[in-house]
Amino acid sequence: AQERYASIRDLPATTKCGQTISLMMNAGLIADLPSLEGSGAEGVGLFRTELQFLIRNQMPKRAELSALYSRVLKSADGKRVAFRTLDIGSDKVLTYMKPNDEPNPAMGWRAIRVGLDKPGVLRMQLQALLRAADGGPLAVMFPFVAQMSEFRAAKAEMDKAIAREEKLGHALPSKLEIGAMLETPSLAFAPDTFFQEVDFISIGGNDLKQFFFAADRENERVRKRYDTLDVSFLTFLEQIVKRCQTSGTPVSFCGEDAGRPVEALCFAALGLRSLSMRPASVGPVKHLLRRVHLAEVRAVMDKAIAEGHQSVRRAVSDWLVYQV
Ligand code: PEP
Ligand code: MG
Repeated sequence: AQERYASIRDLPATTKCGQTISLMMNAGLIADLPSLEGSGAEGVGLFRTELQFLIRNQMPKRAELSALYSRVLKSADGKRVAFRTLDIGSDKVLTYMKPNDEPNPAMGWRAIRVGLDKPGVLRMQLQALLRAADGGPLAVMFPFVAQMSEFRAAKAEMDKAIAREEKLGHALPSKLEIGAMLETPSLAFAPDTFFQEVDFISIGGNDLKQFFFAADRENERVRKRYDTLDVSFLTFLEQIVKRCQTSGTPVSFCGEDAGRPVEALCFAALGLRSLSMRPASVGPVKHLLRRVHLAEVRAVMDKAIAEGHQSVRRAVSDWLVYQV
């Protein structure tokens, strides 16, 4: 698939109306990194650090982690990598951390909740990331932040880690961005101060959609019932994008839907300017974006909404047939 799009690999995802959408890739293993070159992605919009924990049978040591993150940054060769701190719990259970018996693990003790309640691993991870950055730029984001205070508490851990590094005489990042993943509807309604405090927002559409519709992402039967291009969900996404625009907060979308061409097009039409996806999706999404005027996509969406459709999918797909 990547060969098919080789001719546009080094070209930007600029639409016919002149809007450039930054296309990034999702990764989690060292083996994913060669795709950065091959796919034409501008960077790694989501590096799922838990994958490295999941493939081991014991807790990695800080030095191992820092060597690993350093390899990631070296392979990225100056391209931006947004490291997401450990997102365990829910569907990702570590054999060496006692699994909790929870009736609803997806809504349970997971991700930043674990990181804040048992900060040992989070601290180790932050330290390893700072070491790996070795005086260069670093972008870190926290998963499953449900409220402003959780973001502040996680950021305070980063401040402590920085102070420790400084005391030890290690180089600090030349530029440090600290972001939050927006994957619970509550965070979309956080006070303005949250949007001002956070350096960037990454919309975790897989979880956000699951909690928006109260439909388990692991349960095919209910998952398929709710379209990502459902009018209510798009309205919600647009509100998030607008809040970020108002506060000047960079926002991207990194759920699986970003890699689906029709979805990517609609997201761009809603105002999103950064999408992170599976490497193999970068080519097809770019190909499509380069062929459209976003105002036209938007007009098709608005018309479908005005006509009372539940989802804009049909209208946008039908329209696309005559465009590309
Ligand atoms: C998401 O929820 O959309 C996301 C990117 O995180 P994960 O799929 O790893 O939960
Ligand atoms: Mg998620």
